[in-house]
Amino acid sequence: MTAKKALCVITGASSGIGETTAKLLSSKGYPLLLLARRLERMEAMKLPHTICKAVDVTDRAAIDAAVAEAEAKYGPADLIVNNAGLMQLSEVAKQDPQQWDDMVDINVKGVMNCTRSVLSGMLAREHGTIINISSVAGRKTFGNHVVYCGTKFAVHAMTEGLREEVSQKNVRVIVIAPGATETELLSHTTDAKVKSDYDAWKVSMGGILRSEDVADAIAYAYEAPQNVCIREIVLCATKQGP
Ligand code: NDP
Repeated sequence: MTAKKALCVITGASSGIGETTAKLLSSKGYPLLLLARRLERMEAMKLPHTICKAVDVTDRAAIDAAVAEAEAKYGPADLIVNNAGLMQLSEVAKQDPQQWDDMVDINVKGVMNCTRSVLSGMLAREHGTIINISSVAGRKTFGNHVVYCGTKFAVHAMTEGLREEVSQKNVRVIVIAPGATETELLSHTTDAKVKSDYDAWKVSMGGILRSEDVADAIAYAYEAPQNVCIREIVLCATKQGP
């Protein structure tokens, strides 16, 4: 069976929201290019019409090569979901600046690196969709989130700015901003107290979003008619409050 739909690229597809989105879009018949560093996790899904590549979103040459290979096989990429992200929470005075560098490199520059790899083609074809996964932490500040919030505010700003730049070429640029979602994201925070407080906050809400809730929002935004740009979706567990 050959894939009839257009190629979708998903970054950070080895766990959490990206993994669930890959399964959902695959079940809808889209061919996929999945990018993340843990190749075995992506290959374990065994999705049809899918190319998995161990690519770091900070490596522009590797991203471009993976996109070129997938486009040669499945045709032009019509969607990219810029989902790869890193959250390392801490008080600024206590945080290793390497964590700031990593969050900026992955959450901010990674989004632009991956966008760049598909943007000229979309502009030339006058068709395409870029979905950036930001966070409710891209709209308001939270304790211990200073640099993480900074990166996600940047994703919101870059989405808005790029939309203005490319809208006349029929390219949609969308930001999806979830609240707390059950994934591996918190595991990268190294401050044990911050982590345990965050876990207690999750319990106090009586459960948080599932990655399926976010994947559904991604598919909804993408599958709207091309002349409809659902510019922003902010979704949180009802009991999240802040
Ligand atoms: P996970 O930690 O489960 O997933 C993060 C994904 O990003 C993994 O697939 C990881 O793959 C990938 N990734 C991280 N660094 C890199 C890199 N340098 N190059 C390539 N891929 C990378 O967390 P989520 O699913 O929750 O996170 C997905 C997005 O959702 C992030 O942007 C996050 O900020 C955002 N978000 C999450 C929320 C939550 O509460 N979970 C709330 C709001 C937004 P690998 O390690 O294999 O490279």
